[in-house]
Amino acid sequence: MASVPETVAPMAAEGFPLTAVPASAGQGAGRKPEAMPMSTVHHIYLSPHLDDAVLSCGATIAQQVAGGESVKVVTIFAGCPPLQSLSPYAAQMHRRWGDESDPVGKRRREDEAACRILGAVPIHLDYLDAPCRTDPADGGFLYTSDEYLFAGRIHSADFGLVDDLATDIARRWGNDHEVLFYAPLGVGGHVDHQIVREAAFKLQRRGFSLRFYEDFPYVEDGHALVGALARPDGYAWMAELRWAQEQHVAVKCEAIACYRSQMPNLFGDTEAMARRVRAYMTLVGGERYAERFWTGKPCSSPK
Ligand SMILES: [Zn+2]
Repeated sequence: MASVPETVAPMAAEGFPLTAVPASAGQGAGRKPEAMPMSTVHHIYLSPHLDDAVLSCGATIAQQVAGGESVKVVTIFAGCPPLQSLSPYAAQMHRRWGDESDPVGKRRREDEAACRILGAVPIHLDYLDAPCRTDPADGGFLYTSDEYLFAGRIHSADFGLVDDLATDIARRWGNDHEVLFYAPLGVGGHVDHQIVREAAFKLQRRGFSLRFYEDFPYVEDGHALVGALARPDGYAWMAELRWAQEQHVAVKCEAIACYRSQMPNLFGDTEAMARRVRAYMTLVGGERYAERFWTGKPCSSPK
């Protein structure tokens, strides 16, 4: 079933065209969406960390699974670092997560529980997250504070990681011609989100179908969303709304609540989380709940 634009919905970012897709329709993509039955699309959500895709797209994932579609949540930076040689910044972060003996293992188990609730398949890759990465040239840590982490700039020692990641993903799923990738827009400037965004653009240039999702909760700051869309990398953006049914919003909140190690830092508690999830989905959808996705098309260069 092809997805049919329904109405021009509210909350388009200024200057960006926006279409809406009925909640009952498939994402309808793949390389030939008009000819492809909904059930053959394989949805692969690229999640920088062990929570991002569910935080941002949980209701859409739940609806796709309910519709019999195949959904995988692939967390990129889910590697276990050597705990005896962490930077003070990384060690402090692990203390915040509440289990210093196995911080990433704890987060992996949280993600498995969240995906189980949504009905998606969790896949954890072994790339180290930014505070644990070092410069091969001198062994120094690349990102040693929140300021570096959220500056929106990829360290030069990480440039190769963008290429490696795009190649790795294409190798794993490149033979699947009906795959539709979802990647973060990079709202909020976290460097790991930027790296996945850039790798996703490389996948798009190789011919893969791609949607970008809004990094929640960073996207609650509307200026941050505009900043992510306005980056001078030569793309024009089109938005697409996915309407969500109440039952799938509830399932999304239940799944997010599994990320207990992140709850104090991101929201305070689960009640505040649910309020903010529902408030943002209502802001996006107007009178109804919705999640918003973006398609980036290369602009033709001025003559
Ligand atoms: Zn993240």
